[in-house]
Amino acid sequence: MAVSHLSEDEQALIEAIREIALERVAPRAAEIDHTGEFPWDMKELLAQQDILAMPFPSEYGGIGASELVAVMAIEELSRHCATTGLILAVQQLGSLPILLVGNEEQKRKYLRPLATGKWLAAFGLTESGSGSDAAAMGTEAVREGDKYILNGSKRFITNGGLAQVNSIFAITDRKQGTRGISAFIVEKDFPGFSVGRIEDKLGIKGSQTAELIFTDCEVPAENLLGREGDGFKIAMMTLDHTRPGIGAQALGIAQGALDLAVSYSKQRIQFGQPIAENQGIQFMLADMATKVEAARLLVYNVAEMIDLGEENFSKYSSMAKMFASDIAMEVTNDAIQILGGYGYMKEYPAERMMRDAKITQIYEGTNQIQRLVIARALLA
Ligand SMILES: Cc1cc2nc3c(=O)[nH]c(=O)nc-3n(C[C@H](O)[C@H](O)[C@H](O)COP(=O)(O)OP(=O)(O)OC[C@H]3O[C@@H](n4cnc5c(N)ncnc54)[C@H](O)[C@@H]3O)c2cc1C
Repeated sequence: MAVSHLSEDEQALIEAIREIALERVAPRAAEIDHTGEFPWDMKELLAQQDILAMPFPSEYGGIGASELVAVMAIEELSRHCATTGLILAVQQLGSLPILLVGNEEQKRKYLRPLATGKWLAAFGLTESGSGSDAAAMGTEAVREGDKYILNGSKRFITNGGLAQVNSIFAITDRKQGTRGISAFIVEKDFPGFSVGRIEDKLGIKGSQTAELIFTDCEVPAENLLGREGDGFKIAMMTLDHTRPGIGAQALGIAQGALDLAVSYSKQRIQFGQPIAENQGIQFMLADMATKVEAARLLVYNVAEMIDLGEENFSKYSSMAKMFASDIAMEVTNDAIQILGGYGYMKEYPAERMMRDAKITQIYEGTNQIQRLVIARALLA
């Protein structure tokens, strides 16, 4: 496994998370998938173990982990349960607009309860009519005295309805295009905030994906993030920082599927020998392992670029997310093939891993959009 520049403390932290994931998370994964209920016990576990605190600086109650260590944590959790890995990834996604551009007062008010895990965070950009073309959103925010009044809705929001703190993007000046979008911190219990449909979906079943509805929703003016018109930039900056986390989720799923395929192929006897004795299976395993390792290098590399404060990491962030999620689909599919008929059954986690892998090619920008980002950077 590629191990980048980790201190002894960081190595010990990752070892501890690996153990927690194996002993506490793995035994819950099938049930979480089966019931499709948000795993509050896993959220509590991550909070108690300070895993949710990782992406937050110590002055706001976090442990200030590096981006590299944070992606490694998401990877270790997702190796056994992608829904649990996503709890950490979305805590970062929903909070990052505050961390990146929030003023001191906003940081003091919101980051501590997010770092301790008392509150969950969500990130509301997508709408029914605007996904890849996020700037085509319809939700509007109109300033009235010391408040903004929000009207509209957001679709497919992870943690929607569970999160107390929602980073919401809305139009404040339609004529200005992307420069007319602003970002707000919207609390779940602000007047006019409600939750619409809760989606039933293919994978990451325990993660709640919901519609958020704003009906004359009253947001105090002090909850504007940055300045009016900064919203689109804030959303893109946030996604640049968090796509490596989705790459890490995909990487963890792929590693989990590889682990399963290796152990199964050594145990399954056909034609009087373990199926792993067949070169046809060995070559599949070798290709799977090589893809996983290549994805790991891309994910860790961009995480380190972020830690080093490099500015032009957007392309690498897209590459890591795109490549890791594409190989997660391939590797989980191959794992099912190696398990044969058993791979198709819910008795083994391979089919769940394939269903969970699929979303990593779609959210935080589909892989077509990642290719656009990469191509634009190349051609600029
Ligand atoms: C489970 C789940 C959780 C999610 N969580 C969140 C969340 O927490 N917050 C949030 O804001 N959003 C969230 N999303 C939304 C997600 O980011 C969007 O679904 C995604 O960005 C794609 O948007 P869309 O579904 O509208 O697809 P569309 O944009 O309609 O795309 C449809 C297809 O067309 C392709 N396409 C579109 N434009 C182009 C182009 N220019 N060139 C080539 N191909 C193109 C796309 O790649 C895709 O294949 C979530 C989605 C899901 C399914």
